[in-house]
Amino acid sequence: GTALVWFRRDLRSFDHAALHQALIRYGKVHCAFVFDTDILDALPARADRRVAFIHACVVELDEALDRLAREAGAAGSGLIVRHGGAAACIVRLARELGVREVLANRDYEPDAIARDQRVARELADCGIAFSDYKDQVVLDRDELLTQQGQPYSVFTPYRRAWLQRADGFQLASYPVERHAARLAPKPPGEHPPALEALGFLPTNLSELALPTGMRGGRALLRDFERRLARYHETRDYPARKGVSYLSTHLRFGTVSIRQLAALARRHGGEGAQAWLSELVWREFYQMILWHHPHVVHGCFKPAFDRLSWDDAPELWQAWREARTGYPLVDAAMRQLHQTGYMHNRLRMVAASFLTKDLGIDWRRGERHFARHLNDYDLAANNGGWQWAASTGCDAQPWFRIFNPVTQSEKFDPDGGFIRRYLPELARVPDRYIHFPAAMRPVDAKACGLRLGRDYPLPVVDHARARTRTLMRFEAVKSLP
Ligand code: FAD
Repeated sequence: GTALVWFRRDLRSFDHAALHQALIRYGKVHCAFVFDTDILDALPARADRRVAFIHACVVELDEALDRLAREAGAAGSGLIVRHGGAAACIVRLARELGVREVLANRDYEPDAIARDQRVARELADCGIAFSDYKDQVVLDRDELLTQQGQPYSVFTPYRRAWLQRADGFQLASYPVERHAARLAPKPPGEHPPALEALGFLPTNLSELALPTGMRGGRALLRDFERRLARYHETRDYPARKGVSYLSTHLRFGTVSIRQLAALARRHGGEGAQAWLSELVWREFYQMILWHHPHVVHGCFKPAFDRLSWDDAPELWQAWREARTGYPLVDAAMRQLHQTGYMHNRLRMVAASFLTKDLGIDWRRGERHFARHLNDYDLAANNGGWQWAASTGCDAQPWFRIFNPVTQSEKFDPDGGFIRRYLPELARVPDRYIHFPAAMRPVDAKACGLRLGRDYPLPVVDHARARTRTLMRFEAVKSLP
């Protein structure tokens, strides 16, 4: 029989659950990817680094599948690429190819679940089966429950249970080479469309330190392996190269989570353990999203839906435009806009600042990040925002409020990160770099900085903002 593997956020040709299943069960296997207009048309800009990233990965995957098939002795293969509504495209293609089954790797986002249900129904109407596989996480849905059979809502016990369950069996790869001769040749004239043909413009992606595709993922991983042992010491300092920068690759599946987790286990040691914990956070939030899809629009803890946030259009604009007068926050926002990446420590600081210093609804910040992050992932972004806003699952307690100046002193001690993204502060002495507003006019003059002109004065007073936030949360706490 013939099958079709539908690639989505799993753009690789190794250790791939759906592809593995198709190859062991069918004599002929087609592979397809759809540039889904339901998603693409909703993007606010025609230059989008994510689309450019995916496009590069699709071109690479097409070649990789062809090579795999040839090395296994077949005539060649590749990726059939379509541009249109995903559900309609897949159903039409499955019928054209005369396949018996469509296989895909599972997605846990509510929209994706609805889409897959629709595809499964429409395929069933044509007598074609649809099946999905766990692939993008090591443990999914309700594989890991508390002793009471409930989903976990606290990270530490979840992590403990995860580490126990994620054994060699769970981390074993799904090989594809062995039966790769079953990869079907592409219909004649099939080539991935150019980015421009999809209606998108080139971006600055190629200038960033984010190589694309499986090759890019491998290069980043190789580089990170040399730093892995020190991850726990370096991960919190945005000026240093401490983290893996693999998030976009994890998002689009150009690396395999099983291989990464297995590598961390094999290395052992404090650095690797700390890094593995972060991979577990990723699964924790995927699990939360699957069990509690209301978090997409509402607070994980519904009581917090009664918080009354400020409208504050000017403060909102200052945050978005990196003009808050708090250098670490502003540098973080510039990093986001210039590169599509923001360091984890800074995501926490910027999100805390928006919600707890400016009193603005976390959902607005979440949307802004969703638009700009290369690694944007609904589960992780929503989890991160609700963590910072204290409305989430196992979140930062609401009375813990980051001080943007002490965070800066602690995690960017010599202002190296600030100066990289705020060159207007390059000559500000170290003792003022975290809060230039504290400079006396004579100090400002000495380094050529006109406060309020070259760099803004703080848009809020942190101590006062903190008191307001405590009141905001107290009010909700005391409601019946
Ligand atoms: P590393 O430190 O090398 O970590 C390895 C991997 O673990 C990451 O690539 C990521 O897949 C996962 N990971 C790490 N931290 C977390 C976390 N807290 N939650 C979930 N997964 C994690 N991560 C995203 O992938 N997409 C997002 O849209 C996203 N939005 C965030 C928003 C906020 C407000 C916050 C506080 C965090 C967000 N994160 C998000 C989590 C984290 O900041 C990024 O995963 C990390 O900075 C990516 O850099 P890295 O790959 O070098 O991470």
